[in-house]
Parts: sequence; structure tokens; C-alpha cells
Amino acid sequence: MKTIKENLDKIKTQIDETATSCDRRPEGVQLIAVSKKKSVKIIQEAIDAGAKHFGENYIQEAVEKIEIIADDTITWHFIGHLQSNKAKFAVKHFEYIHTVDKFKLAKEINKQAKKINKVQKILLQINIGEELTKSGARIDNAIDLVKQIHGFENLSLQGLMCMPPYFTEPEKARTYFQQLVQIREKILEQNFDNITMEHLSMGMSNDFKVAIEEGSTMVRVGTSIFGNR
Ligand SMILES: *Cc1c(COP(=O)(O)O)cnc(C)c1O
Repeated sequence: MKTIKENLDKIKTQIDETATSCDRRPEGVQLIAVSKKKSVKIIQEAIDAGAKHFGENYIQEAVEKIEIIADDTITWHFIGHLQSNKAKFAVKHFEYIHTVDKFKLAKEINKQAKKINKVQKILLQINIGEELTKSGARIDNAIDLVKQIHGFENLSLQGLMCMPPYFTEPEKARTYFQQLVQIREKILEQNFDNITMEHLSMGMSNDFKVAIEEGSTMVRVGTSIFGNR
């Protein structure tokens, strides 16, 4: 079995090579190590191997681990489904929340961020495959949702996130990544104030190379770093 360091180094090399091969700067792609269900010890091993950005899915598990690790050089990304009544914990501990998909949730995050004087960075999760089993805003609701939330002073809308249907053949995910890029363009055409939409959070262990080719700025990789969950 390979060590976490070997896995991380390999993925970083693959990110660099893929970015370079499509004339993108490797620094323009942030690797997020997805550590859900992994212990503090294992996360610490990844930190020692140089990982700086981590993604977590379950709020209670995440808060416990973040408080034990207590390392303010680490950037935490919330990438799981978030219920409004847990928003305050996500706001307290996470620099980015990737999974905002409803007005109600955005409103609550704004409220909780205001309480602690924070401007919370968020991404809108789009249900790009229109799958009943997945969270995310509907594609045709995306612009309306941006319209509703772009005035919130304690939110900073940083971009879009998606999780396409799972394919063993990563090439099949390409069309979904392209659709997310198009939604981003449609939002930018509306010229909302204070919205840069610089990030596209797309690509996981299986398909991050294709996602980078299509413009991903944040790849969320779990299994290829930490092994099976
Ligand atoms: C678990 C998870 C990942 C990581 O998936 P792997 O296939 O293990 O790389 C990425 N994004 C989200 C939203 C996840 O829940």
C-alpha cells in the first residue's frame, strides 16, 4: 500500500501535468483533500505531507476533528449536505461552504455570519445531472437563486460546485463539467454586483483530470489520497 504522502505527491503531479497540458497555471487548481470518515491521525499525516486544504461532509464529525487539530494554517471546506439548523457550525469552522442550494440556507448562513462579523465564502451547488437522489439547485433555478442572494452582505459568492452522476469512464463526466461552465457564464452575463464567480469546484478521484481540462479551480479528492472509506 502506498503512503498518504506518495498518493498526495502523485495527485499533485497529475494536477500540474493536466493543467500545463491545457495551458492553465497549475496554481489555478486547488487540491482539496476530502477527509470524511478519516481519523485525526490520518488527517495529521496528510498535513505533515503538505496538504493545506481539506473537505469534510458531516458537520458534527468535522467540528470534532477541526477542534482537535486546531491548526489555523489549514483551510477547511464544507462539501456535504447542510441543513439550515447546522449552518452556524459550518460558518464558525469553514472558510468555504460549497453546498449552498436553497435560499433558506443562504439566508441562514448570512444571518449566522453576520453574528460573528464574518463574510462567509460560499459556492452554489448545482444538481447538474438533475438526479433525484442528489442535492443541489436545479439548473433552471440557478440565476434566480443568485438574484435572491447577491445582496446578502455577509455572503461572498465565489462560484459553483457540482457532482455529476458517477461513471466508471471519466470522459462521460465531461459534458456535465461543460454545463457548469455555461451556467457560470450565464450568471456572469447578468452583471450582478460583488460577484466574481472565480471558482468551479468540480472533479473527484475518478474524474479530476477531465474537470481540470474543463476549467475546474478546486478538485475534491478523497479515495485516491486516503484509500477506500
Ligand atoms: C466524498 C466526496 C468527494 C471525494 O470523492 P472521492 O471519489 O473519494 O475522491 C468529493 N466531493 C464530495 C462532495 C464528496 O462527498
